[in-house]
Amino acid sequence: MSMDYADGPMFKNTIKILEDAAAVINCDPNVLERIKRPKRAIIVSVPVRMDDYRVKVFTGYRVQHSSTLGPYKGGIRYHQDVDLSEVAALATLMTFKCSLLNLPLGGGKGGIRVDPTQLSRTEKQNLTRRYTSELGQAIGPNVDIPAPDMGTDPQTMAWIMDTYSQEMGYAQPGVVTGKPVEIGGSLGRNGATGLGVIFTTEKALATQNMKMPGTTIVVQGFGNVGQHAALYGFERGMKVLAVSDVSGGIYNAGGLDIPDVIRYVTEHKVVKGYPKAEPISNDQLLTLKCDVLAPCAMENVITEANASKIDCKFIVEGANGPTTNEATKILSDRDIMICPDILANGGGVIVSYFEWVQGLQHYFWSEEEVNNKMKQIITGAFDKVWELKTEKKVDMRTAAMGSSVRRLERAMLLRGLYPR
Ligand code: GLU
Repeated sequence: MSMDYADGPMFKNTIKILEDAAAVINCDPNVLERIKRPKRAIIVSVPVRMDDYRVKVFTGYRVQHSSTLGPYKGGIRYHQDVDLSEVAALATLMTFKCSLLNLPLGGGKGGIRVDPTQLSRTEKQNLTRRYTSELGQAIGPNVDIPAPDMGTDPQTMAWIMDTYSQEMGYAQPGVVTGKPVEIGGSLGRNGATGLGVIFTTEKALATQNMKMPGTTIVVQGFGNVGQHAALYGFERGMKVLAVSDVSGGIYNAGGLDIPDVIRYVTEHKVVKGYPKAEPISNDQLLTLKCDVLAPCAMENVITEANASKIDCKFIVEGANGPTTNEATKILSDRDIMICPDILANGGGVIVSYFEWVQGLQHYFWSEEEVNNKMKQIITGAFDKVWELKTEKKVDMRTAAMGSSVRRLERAMLLRGLYPR
């Protein structure tokens, strides 16, 4: 495990995207120098009483990349591969996601190196509460606002909110977003990332005069993001050819009945064994012929090794960092349009922002209002990216990062460097 955040592949990938975009928009070199590094990184030991009474110590992180535009914002990931460098890369992406989407928020990310599928509910609660307590005043409604990411969910956010509130002495719903609706969560937050993926898909298709009905999509990853992307695509008439999770993939040339697959997964935990489809491997799934490929799981799944075999027209990134820079180059040369992560999966943080705003005002909106406002922001961002892509003749990833860096650059120059 690397102890230097700058060494990891995802962090290096992210910085390269940033440097390329900065060159395209002619970014101030002093600004670039600053945004290449996170502002602060916290590492905590998280001792947990396991069900057999033994104590295990896990390592937790919170990386705060930038607070130029507002409080740090970003999810918390529980996964066995989490390390400082990965969290730093994800925190950096959050800064640029919030900036691109015009939100008054900075970027941060947290994580614990743990396989959450191996924890009981009590162990996961103990882990979450102790991690929250170790972070102490480093998080807070005006400081740094966590949310769900891989391996965490609304229940996890409820435990964080409760722990933080207990320590402060009064209810502090604004400390996290992605909470259950009963304790101040927003309608629409749970499905927001998947819905944003589908709004982005619709925009991408429209650039080629294509429509949703009958268009084929393959979804890699069937967690919160993948399930909702598949469901909202299905509801709009898309033919979902295949989906996959850690257990493998399932394929049906006639299209999967997604509500039925979700029922199966809710009962059996994994897609493996779903009766009305053929099993396929994750590798086969990525190279299926389709219109849209939506990677909605981990980073670095589309690489130099498989990019030339990918057989789709659009890649819509539900995950953060699923495509390496080498693969992006190969795919762009093959005229495959990539809707990059900071744009395509922005629906989650947009509705997190709405949740935070609704909480601050103690006034809650209908799901329809939430979804419409989210659509406005994400499609507006798409148009902005498209415009820069056309103007500078670059790929969508460079254009998205360029547009994002532009806003952050202006804000940083206005605020200046303290002390001078
Ligand atoms: N973890 C999500 C992301 O990567 C959501 C972050 C948030 O809602 O703050 O964008």
